[in-house]
Amino acid sequence: MYDDSYPSIPSGRGNPYRRCVSCRRTAPDINGEVERHYSWCAWRRERIAAHAFRHLNFRVSWSKEDSVFVARVDEHPDLTGYGPTPPTALKELMEAMAVKLDDWPQHTSEAAR
Ligand SMILES: [Zn+2]
Repeated sequence: MYDDSYPSIPSGRGNPYRRCVSCRRTAPDINGEVERHYSWCAWRRERIAAHAFRHLNFRVSWSKEDSVFVARVDEHPDLTGYGPTPPTALKELMEAMAVKLDDWPQHTSEAAR
């Protein structure tokens, strides 16, 4: 996945290259590839999560039995969010998904194939 929009800072000490603010890897090492940032890089994780969202199908439905809106995402049927309005149900779902963030990079590379 090509994306060179990461925030960067000069390397300093006469080094002509800039480096990622988050993981400090230099531009030639990264070469515009998101996956070439270190795996713990905050920017990399954020980009991969944003990319993963584009492949997901969100649904919000009204549950008559529970009198509450239920938000679900097709690709992760184990996750749900509940709320008195669709946005609050979605927000709860997002929080449940954030907990799962660590599992996503693998899911994304499968989806991109
Ligand atoms: Zn980085």
